[in-house]
Amino acid sequence: MTKYVLPDLAYDYSALEPHVSARIMELHHSKHHKAYVDGANKTLEQLAEARQKGALDGAGTLERTLAFHISGHVMHSIFWQNLSPKGGGKPTGELASAIDRDFGGFDSFKTQLNKTAATIQGSGWAALYLEPLTQQLIIGSVHDHQQFSFQGSLPLMVVDAWEHAFYLQYVNEKAKFFDALWNIWNWADIGERYAAAKGAKLSLKGVTG
Ligand code: MN
Repeated sequence: MTKYVLPDLAYDYSALEPHVSARIMELHHSKHHKAYVDGANKTLEQLAEARQKGALDGAGTLERTLAFHISGHVMHSIFWQNLSPKGGGKPTGELASAIDRDFGGFDSFKTQLNKTAATIQGSGWAALYLEPLTQQLIIGSVHDHQQFSFQGSLPLMVVDAWEHAFYLQYVNEKAKFFDALWNIWNWADIGERYAAAKGAKLSLKGVTG
């Protein structure tokens, strides 16, 4: 069975300072993200064992746990690649055009993403998606790592709004953390993710117009 693995970062834990502290990056990657990777692998083993024993009464519960861990792994893996010590500024090319088209400009896109992140209740994420039915960019929030997600939509850019992402450095002022991220967004990565996602199809007819 293919296992999930914790990806290496493309930069040192201290590389995103002063915007995100080295201590936060170390804990966030080596402890929190690792826990989702380990949790996904362990839950898959538990499901395999349950199938072998013919004891699948708890399958639904294990699958919810699996969704939590796999989604945590996916979201964190995207988040690390979305950031860069050489990031910041504004997107260019097709991503910039799509943001203008679907949000009415970069400033309103930035405000909407920050507001979405700031109004998350409890633990969650704000995310930019490509919605494949319309091929539009949309923003949403995600509770924990997986709930309220748009089925079929592909996450391109994600904002970790769990307290573990900012509390050691920003304490209760999470809006300052969301603002600081705009100095390190890796637009090249987000643009590549958009180019790869464009054209994704759900093979549905008559569902938009
Ligand atoms: Mn996190």
